[in-house]
Amino acid sequence: MSIKKRVVIKIGSSSLTSRHGEISRIKLEKIANEVAQLKDAGREVVLVSSGAVAAGYRKLGFLKRPESLPEKQAAASIGQGLLIETYSHLFLSHGYVASQILILRSDFLDESRYQNVRNTLNVLLERGIIPIVNENDTLSTERLNFGDNDTLAAKVAGLVDADQLVILSDIDGLYDKNPTSHNDATLIERVSEITEEIESAAGGSGSAVGTGGMKSKIEAVKIAMASGISTFLGNANKENIIVDAVGEKAIGTYFNCKESMPTLNQKKQWIAFNSGSKGEIIIHPDASERMVTKRKGLRLKEILEVNGRFEKGAVVRVIDTEGDEIGRGVVKISSIEMERMLQAPTDQMKDSTIIMEMGDFVGHSDAPITIGV
Ligand code: ADP
Repeated sequence: MSIKKRVVIKIGSSSLTSRHGEISRIKLEKIANEVAQLKDAGREVVLVSSGAVAAGYRKLGFLKRPESLPEKQAAASIGQGLLIETYSHLFLSHGYVASQILILRSDFLDESRYQNVRNTLNVLLERGIIPIVNENDTLSTERLNFGDNDTLAAKVAGLVDADQLVILSDIDGLYDKNPTSHNDATLIERVSEITEEIESAAGGSGSAVGTGGMKSKIEAVKIAMASGISTFLGNANKENIIVDAVGEKAIGTYFNCKESMPTLNQKKQWIAFNSGSKGEIIIHPDASERMVTKRKGLRLKEILEVNGRFEKGAVVRVIDTEGDEIGRGVVKISSIEMERMLQAPTDQMKDSTIIMEMGDFVGHSDAPITIGV
């Protein structure tokens, strides 16, 4: 068993709330007790916790969880503070200090802001603090958000170079079909590759309070796996689940990365999962082959068409002549410059000008690209 020093734990809304949808102090206490045990054993822990809306809607005057976005965001602005206050008290009773980091999807679009979050998290972790991360639910927009905390947790795990991601939900792990609607569903205990079978078992969104369902958890596992991080998925209500998940003796689903699987470095994780694309370039069929199998950078002469306006350093989609995206990468020159050079270049210039280095390119064959912007 490998020693897992740095662990990111994601707690879903259904694991923090009572039957009525409000925050359950008993559930939070259980989480804090178990996280404190990990801390006592010398681990570094990041908590990614949902629950802001649930913690706030009653104080906003609603009897049940509101439906509209502005009402939910208003509830989150009350609830986030209350949630952190509760966590802080609970962790302090164990001798640990908690901190709050609220992230917007736009914070991760810019590489320097993304790295900034990483630097802050590293200082907190090295100083023994328990950072509690959530999407900034009050300010995020429908058009631009992480969608769910499962993928946010996987991205944070990659950002801090975690040894393990633990996703806790209201279910024992991944079943071969939705156990809520199939009595004969069986638990899948070990997964080393996300196959089509696994994806289809995960189906659609599940509980009434959760937003992600099993599908978003599998999406998160894919991001974690591509970043070289194994994931445990299990039931938050089980006694000692957090400690046992890290000790590899919990009942649930372990998604372990294959040793042979290539993993993305920090730069490539940012390109693949966070950057957002600013335009696209359509490339010659031979170039797709050169990039994907021969791992050669993209040259100016291999470009057939440039779409969109982008600056040097932007991330763009690389498209083949069939219209399929083969990957994404950082361009070395702007779209205007590219078009100018394509129109009046010498052949030598076209051949020698590198548009994209392989170190700045992530192909779909290397990783699932789930930028979603
Ligand atoms: P959380 O709020 O904890 O993030 P969700 O409610 O979003 O969790 O997702 C968990 C739910 O996903 C389960 O309660 C279950 O109803 C549903 N689900 C769908 N397919 C599966 C499956 N194959 N295995 C396990 N759970 C599944």
